[in-house]
Formats: sequence, structure tokens, C-alpha cells
Amino acid sequence: MRKNISRKKIRDPFIQKVQELSGQNLLVCYQCGKCSAGCPAVSEMDILPNQIIRFAQLGFKDELLQSKSIWICASCMTCNTRCPKGINIAEVFEAIRQIILRKRQDHVHIEKLTDQEKEDVPPIALISNFRKFTS
Ligand code: SF4
Ligand code: SF4
Repeated sequence: MRKNISRKKIRDPFIQKVQELSGQNLLVCYQCGKCSAGCPAVSEMDILPNQIIRFAQLGFKDELLQSKSIWICASCMTCNTRCPKGINIAEVFEAIRQIILRKRQDHVHIEKLTDQEKEDVPPIALISNFRKFTS
């Protein structure tokens, strides 16, 4: 994946907002990959948890806002327990979701699920999606 890095991107206010909402210092990540290695949802992600942090460090705002990974994340916190630098990666995912949800843009419309779909979906998926619901 080829990406252009620029000072302007790195200084984008979006990145400051992610740090502010998550309470995490993104710059201490040294890309060991332990967060992604322990994440139970990586097979469905388009950007892995360690890559989410790297993209945030480098100011890849559009890629982060368009990533399906932030909605796939089940907020299980496994990544948080594995990070040797003490970064709460799940909170970074949550911060990116919040930036979108505060614009009242729902990603999943739970009210449109059929009764059969509600029965088939694992409870953790429903619970995590209720946490991503704006209205
Ligand atoms: S909180 Fe999200 S990113 Fe972290 S391990 Fe769980 S599913 Fe993966
Ligand atoms: S576990 Fe922590 S230090 Fe390692 S890649 Fe993930 S966020 Fe970065």
C-alpha cells in the first residue's frame, strides 16, 4: 500500500481530536504488532489495529474515516491488554467512531434487522453495535 506522507497531514487537527477523545499518545506506538496479533476480528478488518495507530500517527484521516475496521471492532479490549506501551487501542477506535457518530451518521441500522437476523447475530455483535448508535 503506497501512501504519501506530508507535514500537513501529520498536523491535521483530526489527529489531535483522536488523541484528545481517546486520551492516548499515539506517538509512543513502535509498531510491534501485538495488538493485531491478539485481535479476534482481524480477519474481517481492512486496516489492522497496529495500522490504525500508524495511520493516525501519519495523519491519514480519510483512510481512517472510511475504514470498515472501526465498525468491525467489537470493543473487546484484548488489544489494550497486549500493548507493551500501554496504549488503549480500543479507545482510539472509539474516538474515530465518535467523530463520525457526532455528525449523526449511523453505520448500522439495527431497527432494519429482521427478527431472523436478530436471532442469528451473536449477542456481542448487537451489544457492540448499540454502542455505535446515535439515535
Ligand atoms: S478492541 Fe477491537 S481492535 Fe482491539 S482486540 Fe478487540 S476487536 Fe480487536
Ligand atoms: S501493541 Fe501497542 S506498541 Fe504494539 S503496535 Fe499495537 S499499539 Fe503499537
